[in-house]
Formats: sequence, structure tokens, C-alpha cells
Amino acid sequence: MEIVILAVVIAVVLVGAVSGLVIGGRRKKQLPPAERPSAAPTITTPPAEPRVGDEAETPRDESRRTIEEVDLPAAEAPPAEAEPAPAAPEVEVPEPTEGRLVRLRARLARSQNALGKGLLTLLSREHLDEDTWEEIEDTLLTADVGVAPTQELVERLRERVRVLGTRTPQELRTLLREELLKLIATDAPRAVKTDNGLETPAVVMVVGVNGTGKTTTTGKLARVLVADGKSVVLGAADTFRAAAADQLQTWGERVGARTVRGPEGGDPASIAFDAVKEGIAEHADVVLIDTAGRLHTKAGLMDELGKVKRVVEKQAPLDEVLLVLDATTGQNGLVQARVFAEVVNITGIVLTKLDGTAKGGIVVAVQRELGVPVKLIGLGEGPDDLAPFDPEAFVDALIGD
Ligand code: GDP
Repeated sequence: MEIVILAVVIAVVLVGAVSGLVIGGRRKKQLPPAERPSAAPTITTPPAEPRVGDEAETPRDESRRTIEEVDLPAAEAPPAEAEPAPAAPEVEVPEPTEGRLVRLRARLARSQNALGKGLLTLLSREHLDEDTWEEIEDTLLTADVGVAPTQELVERLRERVRVLGTRTPQELRTLLREELLKLIATDAPRAVKTDNGLETPAVVMVVGVNGTGKTTTTGKLARVLVADGKSVVLGAADTFRAAAADQLQTWGERVGARTVRGPEGGDPASIAFDAVKEGIAEHADVVLIDTAGRLHTKAGLMDELGKVKRVVEKQAPLDEVLLVLDATTGQNGLVQARVFAEVVNITGIVLTKLDGTAKGGIVVAVQRELGVPVKLIGLGEGPDDLAPFDPEAFVDALIGD
């Protein structure tokens, strides 16, 4: 009898257990799919081993939680990678390059007074005698136009003024404008070459003596290119001057351009190499390389710039070599130009500090000297004070309205 009772009790317990499991299984299936916990780690396990029937109840020592609450932890504690990234440094939008020279024309005031207005005043004299022509010549020479271009200009002016007879100020202005333009205009394209038609970025090397504004110009040029919709990588290969790399990096950061740099006193060629490599990896449009401008010996300079050129060309053609010259240094600038032209193939000139000089005629002299065009001019220390060179706007600025 006792055995029968025991068997009945066991049977009842077993039936209860089986029905409990089925109910539990059904309950799990009844959860709407969207509300099921998706991330397993966010579900905590009950503290004690569950007993038959326990799963239908809230664990005794836990407060009751709704399904929504079970689902929410994933959103309440987002994984680390979903946290917002630290704010990137603010990237500036440089001014458009078109019309910059017109905007900055007032910065040429010193050249305008000495050269443009000076010439117009002399040409307006009633009697254009030999002394006056000599004064005109002196004005051009003082403004650093150079001897040969000065003689050409004076000759042409004499001829045209003679033909003209009586002269109105407007006629003189037109005449002078035309003749100055003839001196300045060249057939060579003025735009910095940044479109080589290849997969690899255009590579621009910036050379010049330290102090001419080379690094500043490289930074400003990055802004010019960014303003024109190009992506830029900077190579700080001026490892000679202590602050040059920091300076360049700051310029780059302001327009969102990466700067490749190395240790102070490091090998410029290896930085140039890495910069081009980075430019290729980033699919950048242009790689701008700032070089060291030690004019110690011609052989040393040739060695250094030659090496930079060679390592660049292992990866991509070198599209531009821009020579930076300080317009205030006059004849000394021309001497520098000559030395650089002997060691590297200059393809364009950047004349800086034209805002601080009356010697705007250097544009003519340096183009003649090197046979390459002035492509950019520096008209101040501000970030957008580098203007693409436009001969007409330049001459208009010199002779005024
Ligand atoms: P680097 O040694 O040739 O690299 O010379 P930096 O780029 O450091 O420039 C030397 C100084 O010239 C800095 O104070 C620049 O702000 C200044 N500079 C550069 N370009 C111009 C310019 O077009 N106008 C004026 N006024 N100053 C300039």
C-alpha cells in the first residue's frame, strides 16, 4: 500500500514538473520578438539554482522588473565605441582665392605710390625733356624693375608719347597700363599645377632661403588649395629650423590637412618620402613639401634638394618647384633665385612681403631672371593674404584708378 502511495506521489510530482516546463517554454515563446533581449550579456542570471516552477516567479530577492526594463540596459549603457569621439579641432573655411588680389590691392600702396603714381605724374609733365625721361628711368630702377626691362619700357613709352602728341591723363594711364602689362605678362600658365591627370597626388615642393616666408607660404598655399576644393597633405621637410614643423602643422590643422613630420634635424628626404606615401594612401589631391632653406654651400643645397626630389619621384612625379623670394630683399633676392635655379628646376615663383615694399617692380625682374612666372604673391601675414598672381589686377593696383 505504502509503495502504491509513494508511486502516486512521484507520478504527481513528475506531471507537475513536465507541465511546468511546457508552460515555461510557451511563456518564452510568447515574448514578442522585438522585445526579447538581444544582447545576452545584458541579462543577469538569478542568484540561486531555479527549482521546478520558480521560473514563473520573480526571484525572491530581486525587485520586480518589466520586460521594457530588461530590454533597456543595452541602450542605457552603450558600448565604449559608441561614445561620441572627442571634438576635432575646428576646421576653418579659407576665403575663396578668386579676386584675392583685388581685395588686397590696397596692400600694394607703397609700390603704387612709388612706381605707378610716380610714373603717371612724370609722364603728365608738359615738357617731356631728357631729364624727365631720366627720372622715369630712375623710378623704374628704384622699384627694382631691372635694367633691361627699364630700358625697353622707356623706349616704348617715348615712341608712343611722341605719336600721341597731346596727352590726356586717361590716355597716359591706358598707355602705361598696356606697356607694364607687356613687361609682366608671360605665356606660361600661372596656376599652381595640382592636376597631373594621374592616380597619384600632385607633388609641390617649396624651396627658398629661411626667413623669406617659406613655411608661412606653404601653410597659406595649403589654404589656397583647400579653398579651391583640393585635399592636401603637408610634408614638414624643413627639419633644420626648430619651429618649422610645429608651425606647418598648425597651419595644416586649421584647414584639416595632415602634416607628416619627423624629428628635428632628421632627414628631409625621408619625410618627403613619407609625405608622398601618406598622400597616396589618403588619395589626396596635392602633397606640399616645405624644405629647409639653408644656403650654406651650393653643393650642399643641391645635394639636399636633389635627394628630396629623387625620393619623391620614386612614388610620383614632382609637378611644381616653387621658389619663395622676399620682395623686400631686392637684388639679394635675385642672387638667391639664381643659385636655386642652378640646383633645381624652378617652375614658379612666390613673391612674399610685397605689402611692405615700394619695389613691386621685382615681379618683372625675377620673371626675366628665371624665365618662369610669378604664380603667387604674399601681401601680409594674415592666413588668406596669399593671392594668385594676376598681371592685370596687379598693374591696375599699381597705377590706381
Ligand atoms: P621661413 O624661415 O622662410 O620659413 O619664414 P617664415 O614662414 O617663418 O616667415 C618669416 C616671417 O615672414 C614671418 O613673420 C611671416 O609672418 C612673415 N611673412 C611671410 N609672408 C609674408 C608676407 O607676404 N607679408 C608680410 N608682411 N610678412 C610675411
